[in-house]
Amino acid sequence: MKALAVFPTRREVRLIDHPEPGVTAPTAVKLRMLEVGVCGTDREIVGFQYGTPPPGSEYLVLGHESLGEVIEVGAAVTRVKPGDLVVTMVRRPCPHPECLACSAGRQDFCYTGDFTERGIKGAHGFATELVVDDEKYMNVVPHQLREVAVLTEPLTIAEKAITQVWQVQQRLPWACPIGPSGEPGSCHRAVVLGAGPVGLLGAMALVNAGFETTVYSRASGLRDKATLVESFGARYAAAETTTLQQLAERVGNIDLVYEATGAARVSFEMMEVLGTNGVFIFTGVPGRKGPIELDANLIMRNLVLANQMVFGTVNANREAFEAAIRDLGTFVARWPEAVRGLITGRFPIEKATDVLLGEPGGIKNVITIS
Ligand SMILES: [Zn+2]
Ligand SMILES: [Zn+2]
Repeated sequence: MKALAVFPTRREVRLIDHPEPGVTAPTAVKLRMLEVGVCGTDREIVGFQYGTPPPGSEYLVLGHESLGEVIEVGAAVTRVKPGDLVVTMVRRPCPHPECLACSAGRQDFCYTGDFTERGIKGAHGFATELVVDDEKYMNVVPHQLREVAVLTEPLTIAEKAITQVWQVQQRLPWACPIGPSGEPGSCHRAVVLGAGPVGLLGAMALVNAGFETTVYSRASGLRDKATLVESFGARYAAAETTTLQQLAERVGNIDLVYEATGAARVSFEMMEVLGTNGVFIFTGVPGRKGPIELDANLIMRNLVLANQMVFGTVNANREAFEAAIRDLGTFVARWPEAVRGLITGRFPIEKATDVLLGEPGGIKNVITIS
């Protein structure tokens, strides 16, 4: 069957013939893959900066943001049935029994680093015609979300982050009085740094949770990001014309920053304007670049005197996938055009190398498989 693979030692990316997987375990499920989303991680893998083939394989099949349809189930499978649409989780636990996180099913917090990730690290990904995995890693998506469900995995980053925000902010009285809308963030102001897919999905999740949300970004790409951002109820501030000081004056006390750029300098400069009792979430992974200069004294002073909190977050657990699927349904009901507008290109798998290696632009590009 067809698969999109990267050969790190030969520095090649191409469509290959990959053996079909079989349903060998009673809890195994076979999927016909429909779509795979492309993100910065995939671009790093095809740039040979990242990505590890499974042991004994010369290549790694790409793809971790996926949507598939169940076509065959093992005898003991109960969570999914043929015809279901599913999004499969990416990370698998490490083999060490002493890893508290993996032992508890929270491999997203793995201590040892010996986890595997499908399409990224030590396990083949989803950019292929058929995939077999255990049912416990699969999350059923309603058929109405067929068109946008490939956005589930990138949305899980925001879902896991927001869950942690509510947990860590229990350190102080932070919960808003619940108004008629029932939105828990309605008394807080959030800034999203970056307007790529992770930032825009994070902004939608924050607006949906009631936060007064501003997206701060450089105007890049062909699409008018300001119009898109305003169409789902957030504000847009262009980095070219708005300094961070002006942003802070416009927003008021910045209660939450959701970083989605991977750019260290602007992130730490943004930290300088984080508000009292604010929480700053890092989701981006910067490239390997040299040191930068920053006003560490100011940042440290603010952290202490304003009771601030900073954390990083990666990967996601089952609850985050379930929340993402639920929220996608809400987004589609509230802002159908904005959500569909996040997917700016669909390309057949035969054209996938062009998408990965070229500069196709847009927001989220998707590879269609069947
Ligand atoms: Zn991704
Ligand atoms: Zn572990």
